[in-house]
This record gives sequence, C-alpha cells and structure tokens, in this order.
Amino acid sequence: MSNRIKNEAELLATFSNPNYPGLEQYRHPFFNERNGQVWATDGNVLISVDPHRLSGDYPKLKLGEPVGFAKRTCDLTVTMSMLAETLASVPTVKEQIEEQPAIECEECNGTGEVVWEYRSLHRTHQMEAVCPVCDGRGIFAKAVYKETGRTIPDPKAKIEVGNAILLVRDVQKLVGAMDFFRADSVHLVRDEGQTTWIIDEDIFIILMTVFKNNDPVTRLKKGG
Ligand SMILES: [Zn+2]
Repeated sequence: MSNRIKNEAELLATFSNPNYPGLEQYRHPFFNERNGQVWATDGNVLISVDPHRLSGDYPKLKLGEPVGFAKRTCDLTVTMSMLAETLASVPTVKEQIEEQPAIECEECNGTGEVVWEYRSLHRTHQMEAVCPVCDGRGIFAKAVYKETGRTIPDPKAKIEVGNAILLVRDVQKLVGAMDFFRADSVHLVRDEGQTTWIIDEDIFIILMTVFKNNDPVTRLKKGG
C-alpha cells in the first residue's frame, strides 16, 4: 500500500517563500543532494520529507544541514490541543490585507540607486548615483493596507516551549502541517538553538528559535 502524501505541493509551499530575494533554495522545494531528502525552507522554518513519500520531481540543490542538526536535547510529546490552546492565549492584532501594492520606481526597481556607465578613451567606468526619477526614494507610494475586521494571533508574538522561544508565525506552520497529516501530536526532540519536531519516521519540521529580549512570552499550555 502506498503511503504517499496527497496534495504535497500545498504542504511544501507553506514552508517556502517564492518572493525570497536572492537565494534560490528559499523560494521553492528541492531535492537536497547532501542528504537525499526533499526540503522546503524559508530560512526560519524547514520541512524535510523522505522522497519515497512524494510524487513530484524537484530540482536538485546542495544545502548543508544547520549546525547540530541531529542533536537531541529533549523528548516531549506535544499535542494539537496544547498548541491550539497556546495559540488562543497569545496577544492578538487586527488582521490587515494589502489593498494596493506599493508603486515602485521602474527606473531603479525600487532601490533608489542607478548605475551610470560612461566611457573614457580606453575604459568603461561605472558609477552609482541617486536615481534621478524618484530622487532616491525608490517608491512613489507605499502599500495601502486595510483591516479585515478580524482579530488574529499576533504573528510576531513569542511562545516558550521547553528551552526554546518561537514565533507564533512559525508555530502556525507546524500546526498547519499537523492538520495536513491529521496528526494529533508531534515529538519535540530538540529545544536548543533550533527546535526539531518529528511528525513520523519520514517527516520532520525545524522551527528556528528567536531571542526572548524583554518581550512577553506565552508558555506552552497543557491542553484539554
Ligand atoms: Zn528610482
């Protein structure tokens, strides 16, 4: 019997960032030649799936594993109800959606700088300068946001799990993946430097930790 994942693109897309500037490995899922697993990551969250559970073809890239990748520091069963109760307890914000995107200067692609080329007798020179079209502002109008009237957990609020501090935004991706697999619980096996969450023997998720600073944190709840 096949235990392949259905709708894998939908799952993997939540862990990548198609608009990530520069680094290709953060924009789409890929087959990691370093360890033979399919990875989707945006640099803050990562899902690793054994390819025998997948149907798609993925571009091949080589990406090193984070420091201490396989290190185990804890063994904690975390249930969906613990995570749901925790997310229901964090500070909230008013949800906003982008009504109009920012209007960028086309001359400088929003950077505010242009490069001039000029030719002297024997050489071509390049010189960076403030964009003359937008006077270095890069954009002509900021994006316009509108409130939806809904209140949502603050994506940047912090949750404390074991020795780790995590962002709500990232924990929601873990919960989304658990929903996807209809998993009632996950095993947390690392809670220092990064967190490692085992869904099953072929699938795990890493959430990067953040600094506590002086921000309020919500401790993981005990669940119902
Ligand atoms: Zn410009």
